[in-house]
Amino acid sequence: MDQCKYHEHCALEGVAISPGDEPLCILHSRDPNKDRSRFESAFSNHKKHRQYDYSYIAFPDRFDIRRVFESGRVDRLLNFTGALFYAEVRFREVAIDAINFMEAEFRAESDFEGIKIEQTTSFYKARFGKHANFKGAVFQGWANFDDAVFEGDVCDWGAIGVRPEY
Ligand SMILES: [Zn+2]
Repeated sequence: MDQCKYHEHCALEGVAISPGDEPLCILHSRDPNKDRSRFESAFSNHKKHRQYDYSYIAFPDRFDIRRVFESGRVDRLLNFTGALFYAEVRFREVAIDAINFMEAEFRAESDFEGIKIEQTTSFYKARFGKHANFKGAVFQGWANFDDAVFEGDVCDWGAIGVRPEY
């Protein structure tokens, strides 16, 4: 086995799906039908050791940040750069120091209602495929939604300081 393409984020070995592809681990495999029990066990190990770095992980099922941070309070930068969410995403009523969703992709609904980010927020080039809820969201400090793409409707554009272009 070779190192996963994103080894610096996961420290796992990976396999190439086809010759010429880069090797990917079970967390980083973008196959929506990947083995759930392998994914869940790798994820639970990952969140113990690398609880602030979810860069480029492809989440096949519903994801709720409270599964990782039950208190709803995160005192660090949470990194979801390039993450891919196939199912619904919930970051509801959580307070986080800083968050990076650069180039993240939300294929299903995303719920950020009541989220509070205290320092920096990046949704640079993020893609929202369905409804995104930003009701009551507070982004203090620097927030970047440049080149984010909203394919569904958005609840409370005001919270994110951008306007849809039709
Ligand atoms: Zn990996």
